[in-house]
Amino acid sequence: MASNAENGDQGRHQEVGHKSLLQSDALYQYILETSVYPREPECMKELRDITAKHPWNIMTTSADEGQFLNMLLKLINAKNTMEIGVYTGYSLLATALAIPDDGKILAMDINRENYELGLPVIQKAGVAHKIDFREGPALPVLDQMLEDEKYHGSFDFIFVDADKDNYLNYHKRLLDLVKVGGLIGYDNTLWNGSVVAPPDAPLRKYVRYYRDFVLELNKALAADPRIEICQLPVGDGITLCRRVK
Ligand code: SAM
Ligand code: CA
Repeated sequence: MASNAENGDQGRHQEVGHKSLLQSDALYQYILETSVYPREPECMKELRDITAKHPWNIMTTSADEGQFLNMLLKLINAKNTMEIGVYTGYSLLATALAIPDDGKILAMDINRENYELGLPVIQKAGVAHKIDFREGPALPVLDQMLEDEKYHGSFDFIFVDADKDNYLNYHKRLLDLVKVGGLIGYDNTLWNGSVVAPPDAPLRKYVRYYRDFVLELNKALAADPRIEICQLPVGDGITLCRRVK
């Protein structure tokens, strides 16, 4: 059978833009076509197709990472969750589908327009009632929550997928907000593979700019005794942090 790539079906291949961390793009394509796309819920496919037409589609969570997050959330029985960095909502929908009907997602993004692009799909999927979307920078919302004891240790899962230069600022705050035994997932911790690029490597400007922050984050997480960590080469790299104290 001809692959979608041979068919020129570009819409199905946005994930290749994430630059596979595997041996070859063909291997990555194999995973997508064998195990991911056939099991992708129709609403997630619809959202992925809408997002593929948006100029910033490189930002979206890949379908294999969406599948991973969905299963992870079910495995840990996550109910109260947070997402920093929503874009059109692919990881948000993966989360909303995984948590129970009375589960919650506090979702933050400085851009409401992109969230609203995906919202009709989320509504149609019957999971919009789980989402509390806040437009604006995430840091002040976290600071406000920290002032109220009731939010301390209240989150089962937090997905961080926004401004990389603030990840350490988020980490300082999120460690108080996630419960002991709960998880924080920091996304893009392999930053396009640039974490191992030589200093003179030709990197796109934004990749170069954020690289130092990602390198600093990775070192800080590895040295933090309050968490156990696991860095996975899924998508652009995700580091799972389990709060242990
Ligand atoms: N998780 C999303 C998905 O599955 O499609 C992708 C998120 S995208 C990589 C990063 C998002 O972070 C953008 O939508 C951007 O507007 C948002 N962002 C940037 N700075 C932010 C901030 N300070 N607070 C909240 N969101 C921010
Ligand atoms: Ca990401």
